Amino acid sequence: MAIATSSPASTLSSAVVEQFIASIRGDVIRPEDAGYDEARQVYNAMIDKRPALIARCTSAGDVIAAVNFARDNGLLVAVRGGGHNGPGLGICDDGLVIDLSTLKGVRVDPLAQTARVGGGCTWGEVDHATHAFGLATPSGIISTTGVGGLTLGGGIGHLTRKCGLAIDNLIEADVVLADGRFVTASADEHPDLFWALRGGGGNFGVVTSFVFRLHPIDTVYAGPMFWPIERASEVMRWYREFITQAPDDINGFFAFHTVPAGAPFPEHLHGQKICAIVWCYTGALDGAEEVFAPIRAQFGPPVLDWVGPIPHPALQGMFDGLYPPGQQWYWKADFVNELSDEAIARHVEFGATMPTPQATMHLYPISGAAGRIASDATAWNYRDAKWGQVMVGVSPDPADNAEMIAWTRAYWEAMHPYSAGGAYVNMMMDAADEGQDRVRASYGANYDRLAAIKATYDPSNLFRVNQNIVPKGI
Ligand SMILES: Cc1cc2nc3c(=O)[nH]c(=O)nc-3n(C[C@H](O)[C@H](O)[C@H](O)COP(=O)(O)OP(=O)(O)OC[C@H]3O[C@@H](n4cnc5c(N)ncnc54)[C@H](O)[C@@H]3O)c2cc1C
Repeated sequence: MAIATSSPASTLSSAVVEQFIASIRGDVIRPEDAGYDEARQVYNAMIDKRPALIARCTSAGDVIAAVNFARDNGLLVAVRGGGHNGPGLGICDDGLVIDLSTLKGVRVDPLAQTARVGGGCTWGEVDHATHAFGLATPSGIISTTGVGGLTLGGGIGHLTRKCGLAIDNLIEADVVLADGRFVTASADEHPDLFWALRGGGGNFGVVTSFVFRLHPIDTVYAGPMFWPIERASEVMRWYREFITQAPDDINGFFAFHTVPAGAPFPEHLHGQKICAIVWCYTGALDGAEEVFAPIRAQFGPPVLDWVGPIPHPALQGMFDGLYPPGQQWYWKADFVNELSDEAIARHVEFGATMPTPQATMHLYPISGAAGRIASDATAWNYRDAKWGQVMVGVSPDPADNAEMIAWTRAYWEAMHPYSAGGAYVNMMMDAADEGQDRVRASYGANYDRLAAIKATYDPSNLFRVNQNIVPKGI
């Protein structure tokens, strides 16, 4: 089987396009249509791609028609879930976008404690639906992120230490394959595909619905604590010991931020660079103050302490306002095993020189429940790493791009020697920026198995607008 090459979709005859439009129930948006510019926007405003056709799929039937149309006409195909991908892997130039943003719906089964979730849902939609039953499943930290991309890449968030990654709670997925077949992948059906979907990204097909395990998580004790940047070294040294040994009920990611210059932040902190830990405690609320008392006393009171009881969906949406869609976005990541004193010293240098008010660095813990799963149990390889680290250049103003990209790259280059090698695929740029070797490094020992499964399910690499796993034998 040869690797698929693509013909520009813009050269298709209008009769062929009209036939496709008639075959699906959702809208198909073309460059000449009103709404095209809005439909091609993704979260990262740095991405400016111009697809020939955007097919808003309303059902698995529409997705099957779109996959068949793309394959039969040799089109480049991108699959869009929530559109949050940093390098914009939910869209492409002069191809077909299979846009799942109208493939919604969340059905919670409160007795079985599961939820079936449409392939185009965002996490805010899922959290809202499950919270009504006092239940939740692990996701990320921003509610507008898509379930599709976040889950297929792994899914690190506030509940990682308690309940594992998003993929560790995936029970089954309905998938449209490159040949147009519709299959269900689970531990019992197509187990090889199910293994690959749990971390292998959008490489294996279009997931039209996911079934997740839910947990009795309702109101948590959570939020950010800020300390002055001058104390960052001290805070990081304490944090590296504390979080790796903490009970699973305590999650906390470390961050550098600049305090936003507006309400509700206290005026005396506006514009100040700080270090933070964003906590999420899932233990009994009546014992939470006691658990956090020694943390609060550790360095004297934090300069800002917004940790308290909060409904889980409110925590999930807490940072949405700081990171709305439409900003410029450039990030680089690595997995980290050790935070040595030397590494901390370098972190602190870069934390103190964040180039824009929105720039940040996060260290997400991968210990607790996520770390107890074997590295070859799912495609997600770095179970031994202690943290997923990401440095993020963000700004509403494209004029800042050169400076923030330079800062992000320099920061990443300074820290890369202290890393475990690969990176979390959901927090990387694309192969043009990172090099294809980074994808291989990120899957490590699981890469060859993934490449073999890719050769079974997508031998011509139809699904290649992603962190691409090249089918074995090509
Ligand atoms: C502000 C922000 C916050 C974030 N926070 C977190 C976080 O806390 N934790 C975390 O783990 N990640 C986080 N991420 C990273 C996020 O997981 C990735 O950007 C992910 O790719 C987004 O998924 P999406 O569906 O929104 O993106 P899209 O751009 O729509 O898609 C991304 C990739 O997934 C594929 N894809 C999407 N849906 C499907 C589907 N249903 N079937 C098949 N393929 C599909 C696409 O083809 C594409 O390759 C964050 C990103 C941003 C921008």
